[in-house]
Amino acid sequence: MDWTPADPRALARLRAALLDHYDRACRALPWRGEADPYRILVSEVMLQQTRVETVVPRYGQWLQRFPDLASLAGAHEDEVLKAWEGLGYYRRARNLHRAAQLARERPDGALPSSYAELRELPGLGEYTAGAVASIAFGEAVPAADGNVRRVLARLFDQPRPSASWLRDQAAALVHPDRPGDWNQALMELGATLCTPRAPRCAECPVAAWCAARAAGTEGERPERVRRPSPRRSVFALAVLHAGGRVLLERRPLGGLLAGMWALPEAEVGGAAEARSAAVGLASARDLDVSEDVRPLPACEHRFTHLHATYQPFAIAVSDPRARAGRDAAWVDARRPTRHALPVAQRRVLESFLQLEPTEVA
Ligand code: SF4
Repeated sequence: MDWTPADPRALARLRAALLDHYDRACRALPWRGEADPYRILVSEVMLQQTRVETVVPRYGQWLQRFPDLASLAGAHEDEVLKAWEGLGYYRRARNLHRAAQLARERPDGALPSSYAELRELPGLGEYTAGAVASIAFGEAVPAADGNVRRVLARLFDQPRPSASWLRDQAAALVHPDRPGDWNQALMELGATLCTPRAPRCAECPVAAWCAARAAGTEGERPERVRRPSPRRSVFALAVLHAGGRVLLERRPLGGLLAGMWALPEAEVGGAAEARSAAVGLASARDLDVSEDVRPLPACEHRFTHLHATYQPFAIAVSDPRARAGRDAAWVDARRPTRHALPVAQRRVLESFLQLEPTEVA
């Protein structure tokens, strides 16, 4: 069907078709139908760069720990990062925490209700502010995530949708009366039927309006962008231990895993350098190193721009009280529960605990 969003009748039929489908077939997710802006914000922030299946249980756990804006705003950052542990991209948690604190400082102590004001909060980009404004407050603004980008690129057979193109198209389509449902319906279509590979066009409620489907180009829209391969780096990790305790340090507030607690690490040129670098980490902290230096299994972790290989060593040291302080702590290796640790480092600690008890003690 030849149509444009400027044709009001065609647009009305498209909106009705997609919303009917959404009303009948949307997945039952815990944040579906939620009206509380704080809860909607939590779900949207968690869903950035994290799969729905991972988010579902974590969303419930988070709301048990921080049921409302006030409880999150009043929490210590370490608690917030600990509750986020394993979800990755910790900047999201830190921004969510800060956004809650700023919202509590407002005269009404609540999240602002307009897109423009939401955009001023940390971590709320175009997408997240649009999602919260439309779903929680009914503002007719778009919320275009990666799923929506793909759906619209196909609907209009656009091979290379730019950010401004996407913004304009999404704004032209958004339903004036049900903007939140509309935005979620587009996202849902992208997540369930209009998937990156093998879109299920025969089941699609908007197939009649889809230019890529008509042209047979749906599998090529949008064109895939080749991302540069992530940089590869090797890090020596030191599990500095004494009496069953290990040294954790808080990472600097800028850069990778900012502000997280972690084992001391040093980037090295290759695995062969890792042992001496790990011992050097102990010496640099004025810790007396025994001869007891044991390699632990290497582990890999992929960040967005970095593929890290960790070469850990368990190193027995004396006087575990040294170097404790605000940004350094000796913690029970079996229960570092208060501290949010990066996923790879938790795996390293698990390997450390597999050593013979006498080696850990
Ligand atoms: S018809 Fe196919 S390509 Fe077009 S929006 Fe529907 S699922 Fe996507």
